[in-house]
Amino acid sequence: MRLFAAVPMPEPARGEIARLLARLREPGWPLRLVHEHGLHLTMKFFGEVPPGRLEVIEEAVRAAVPGTGALPLRLAEIGAFPNFRRPRIIWVGLDAPPALELLQDRLERRAEAIGFAPEGMPFRPHVTLARVREGQRLPAGALESLAGEYEPVAFLAAELILYESVLGRGGPRYQPRLTLELAS
Ligand code: ATP
Ligand code: MG
Repeated sequence: MRLFAAVPMPEPARGEIARLLARLREPGWPLRLVHEHGLHLTMKFFGEVPPGRLEVIEEAVRAAVPGTGALPLRLAEIGAFPNFRRPRIIWVGLDAPPALELLQDRLERRAEAIGFAPEGMPFRPHVTLARVREGQRLPAGALESLAGEYEPVAFLAAELILYESVLGRGGPRYQPRLTLELAS
């Protein structure tokens, strides 16, 4: 099974991101958009694991949460991996308090303790919006045109979810396996 821990996007972030997705639905832009209902901030990607590992992963995720509290977040800039000029993955960044990075670090350490190699890349809080189709390119200036087309809304994120990613024909479905309150 394929697992990852993520903070689901609540309102008003969802609605604002949905508007961004609508802006990305341009004829001639070779994109695969994410589904509106699965919008999330990935905190730790576990990847493909044997189902027998689920319980120990759940325990690791559980152990990382205490002391976090609900997180005041804010939508920030539009960005892309590997970079803005040759985008493959398009995302909206998040402004976050230190508590988010602390939570991510605790997840990383708990995961490492049960055998998952750390990410190795700096944590860049973001919500993925779209992927550029293999072998294709976005028209020049496409991403620049999105700037200013959305509100940098502030919101409170209150949950961390361990999701199973079920790959299917209509793209992946994200099935919650464990839902934790950050404020508990
Ligand atoms: P697809 O791979 O079919 O485009 P997806 O990337 O949305 O779909 P998954 O690959 O299961 O679905 O990924 C689940 C989440 O984990 C997504 O937010 C994805 O961006 C993130 N993710 C995937 N691979 C990695 C990775 N190697 N490192 C960090 N995060 C990852
Ligand atoms: Mg993927």
